Amino acid sequence: MRTERTDGARSKASPAGAKLSRRKLLELGAAAGSAVLVGGRRPVRGVAAAAPVLDPLPPGRDTEILRMQADIRRALQKPVEQRNWIMVIDGRKCVGCQACVVACAAENVLPPGVSYRSVPEIEYGTYPNVRRYPMPTQCMQCDKPPCLEAANAIAPGSITKRPDGIVAIDYTKFRGRAAFDAAFKACPYRALYYDDGRFYTQPTPAFQPYEEAVSHDYGRRWVRDRVRRGEPPIGGGRKCHFCLHRLNAGLVPACVSTCIGRAIYFGDKNDPQSLVNEVLEKHAGKVLRIRENRGTEPRVYYICDDVQLSTSVHT
Ligand code: SF4
Ligand code: SF4
Repeated sequence: MRTERTDGARSKASPAGAKLSRRKLLELGAAAGSAVLVGGRRPVRGVAAAAPVLDPLPPGRDTEILRMQADIRRALQKPVEQRNWIMVIDGRKCVGCQACVVACAAENVLPPGVSYRSVPEIEYGTYPNVRRYPMPTQCMQCDKPPCLEAANAIAPGSITKRPDGIVAIDYTKFRGRAAFDAAFKACPYRALYYDDGRFYTQPTPAFQPYEEAVSHDYGRRWVRDRVRRGEPPIGGGRKCHFCLHRLNAGLVPACVSTCIGRAIYFGDKNDPQSLVNEVLEKHAGKVLRIRENRGTEPRVYYICDDVQLSTSVHT
């Protein structure tokens, strides 16, 4: 599945894994269902079903996913306004394999030109002392999201901030190119994508039914219909939603469970027992947020050892 982004004339596609200059990365900023096999159970899709009971992994095996899911289920016991979802990405563990990008695309049944997640490579240094890092990015679920005001000025109520921190799009309101363009321009992370109604197999006679599979963004059922192409989510902006439908089912986001390096953590920042808080505490002094100086207060934290890299993501 292609994972390029096409944001119209202003943003050219950025092939996954392409070498990007530091400046380019900063310009790109932020910017896939997979059913996930956890604990030996069959893949789980969607959210309508009750949270599955997970089998414990054998002693000695990686139990971080199970711990994060326990953290999520504990958070779900609280009122929504007491949950505080964050993501922590350990950049030192990311190997740039793009598995998370593919998982996100599959989980959310993403069409051509829409990729909630990307893993560009950034490069710094001066030849011959040059290093490259993969840098996973997506919507940062900013606490002060500039996209919200910009979009709502044109399409009222189209973007809202949920009490648990997730910046949510109402596909029935966030309609048309004008509202999208305004939000896209306002977002320092270029995290928004326009769903223009294309299908991967559109130019071929071999239409594949998976392209009309149900997706569950924001806990609702969405079907991209190739006959009725004007229906939401077609014709509006889309972005990462922290896999809200999976959280509500007690599951970690698809990108988290798919990461082969276990580089992505997710949980409730309000919970002192959560793995995300343990990881942040353990790496105090190595934690940064991209473009924090824009005052957006992003909810995605990065762990990084490299001073130069930390400098680059702040500029
Ligand atoms: Fe909005 Fe961009 Fe922040 Fe996401 S990263 S909340 S799209 S400003
Ligand atoms: Fe995609 Fe879900 Fe990860 Fe967001 S949290 S990048 S929607 S898989």
